[in-house]
Amino acid sequence: MSLPPLVEPAAELTIDEVRRYSRHLIIPDVGMTGQKRLKNARVLVIGAGGLGSPALLYLAAAGVGTLGIAEFDEVDESNLQRQIIHGQSDIGKSKAVSAKESLVETNPLVNVIVHNERLDNDNVLEIFKDYDLIVDGTDNFATRYMVNDAAYFLNIPYVWGSIYRFDGQASVFWPTLTNEDGSSAEAPCYRCLYPEPPPPGMVPSCAEGGVLGVLCASIGSIQVNEAIKLLAGIGDPAVGKLVIYDALELEWRTLKVRKDPNCALCGENATVTELIDYETFCGAVSDEASEAAAGSTISVTTLEHMLKERDEGSRDFTLVDVREQNEFEINRIPGSILIPKGEFLNGNAFAQLSQDKPVVLHCKSGVRSAEALAVLKGAGYGDAVHVGGGVVAWVNQIDPSQPSY
Ligand SMILES: [Zn+2]
Repeated sequence: MSLPPLVEPAAELTIDEVRRYSRHLIIPDVGMTGQKRLKNARVLVIGAGGLGSPALLYLAAAGVGTLGIAEFDEVDESNLQRQIIHGQSDIGKSKAVSAKESLVETNPLVNVIVHNERLDNDNVLEIFKDYDLIVDGTDNFATRYMVNDAAYFLNIPYVWGSIYRFDGQASVFWPTLTNEDGSSAEAPCYRCLYPEPPPPGMVPSCAEGGVLGVLCASIGSIQVNEAIKLLAGIGDPAVGKLVIYDALELEWRTLKVRKDPNCALCGENATVTELIDYETFCGAVSDEASEAAAGSTISVTTLEHMLKERDEGSRDFTLVDVREQNEFEINRIPGSILIPKGEFLNGNAFAQLSQDKPVVLHCKSGVRSAEALAVLKGAGYGDAVHVGGGVVAWVNQIDPSQPSY
């Protein structure tokens, strides 16, 4: 479906702008008018991370006149493998500020607005309302549903992307879009595609599962491509289309996404009529896991003490790391054995555990170990515990000589 341009053209381009954007200006579909539309456009990019880095750089280079950055995090060394808007000297700096500095260097003609705060129900509508379009580089489900809903309430197109290991997806959600005659264009929203978040712990985040750095560029540049098409009114934007990229097979597939008439947000009998509690909706930890963890969570300091006693022979227990093999190779708590969470879910873990010894579980941050703990307790290991904060807390508080990821 081709759409009218989202943005009216600016009055004129300066001589500097004509020189800078000349390779756009000589494309007939963009031309002077298209570039003037980009100049007048206001785009908000959520996150200056994996997807946000390439997206921001290309939007700025393309001459999008006003670029917002919503980001509250700081640059960490483990970001630099993919977040190319930041560099070595930015470590420890606010990501939003670091990103702005790179953008000013890329294109000083762009007005960059920094929203150095965590998006939440209290600020999301207020921040979104000044933009024509949202480019989402979020890596968590709670924010994604909030962004989808807020964009819907404000009638702003939402350019979504997601990445994991070697796989990427992208689409444009704009459920309020109408045809020229005013009838609904039957365009879907994110909830039409994913009505419910995955069960907590089922889908690992990039922090837990990893991501190939360059995949961020593949998907981030698709998002910019879609943004430019919508702003300038060219081509056939990915409204109602899900683009799926498999970097290992080098395959792009496009699936049709239909509006769900029963969608809780944009369907006929919508139940989501205002922003909801997204953390609860997406649940950081499942009910079973939080129930199992209540009263059965120990700190890394306690674990250190217990390990000392085990070494001295005054105590015995089995310390189990429920992460994956490749995570175990990056860092580990000394004296732990590896039994990945999946082995608890399929029951194979029990053959490797002694019934006579208490079991202590840990993972990266405490989510997966809480789930494994629920399984273990269900199997009769009543005195099992897990380590709050996992190996991340161990490295931070006990053994900073180990790398974290
Ligand atoms: Zn919907």
